[in-house]
Amino acid sequence: MVQDSIQVLQAQGYKVTKPRRQVLEILDRAQRPLSPYDIQRLLRQQGKYLNHVTIYRILDLFYSLNLAHKLLSTGGFVKCTLPSEEGCHRFMVCHRCGAIQEFVDPQLCLQESKSTRNLGFHTEYHFSESSGLCSNCYRKQLQKQGNAQP
Ligand SMILES: [Zn+2]
Ligand SMILES: [Zn+2]
Ligand SMILES: [Zn+2]
Repeated sequence: MVQDSIQVLQAQGYKVTKPRRQVLEILDRAQRPLSPYDIQRLLRQQGKYLNHVTIYRILDLFYSLNLAHKLLSTGGFVKCTLPSEEGCHRFMVCHRCGAIQEFVDPQLCLQESKSTRNLGFHTEYHFSESSGLCSNCYRKQLQKQGNAQP
C-alpha cells in the first residue's frame, strides 16, 4: 500500500512530493525488482518524466527509511512488504520464477550477531538473501523428477 509508505515519510518529517509519490506507486505495482532505469522507463510509459539522478535520490531516501530494499543478487529495488516489522528484513528469491518473499527472523539475527561478536565485531544490521526455489517451483520440480522415474 502506497498509503503506508506515505505515512512513514510524513512521520519522519519528509514531504510527499510528486516525484516521491510517483516512484512509490511504480514500486508498489512492480512484480519484480527494478533498477532506476526501469523506474524511469515505466514512468515514461505513463507520460511522466523524472531524470535518473532524482530517481536515485528518491531510492536512497526510501532505502534509508526501509521503505524499499535493494536485492543483493540483482541490485534491483523492491518495496518493503513488512514496514511494521522491526529488525532485519531478509529475502528469499526464486531463481526460476523470480518470486520474492521477505521475512524477519530475530533468532537468526541473534545467532549471526553472536558469531561476529566472537570475532570482535559489533553488528548493527544483517543483509541476507536466500537463493533457491519457491514452494511452487520446488513442487513442480519434484513432480517432474517423479515422472522421470520408471
Ligand atoms: Zn522490508
Ligand atoms: Zn518460483
Ligand atoms: Zn539482524
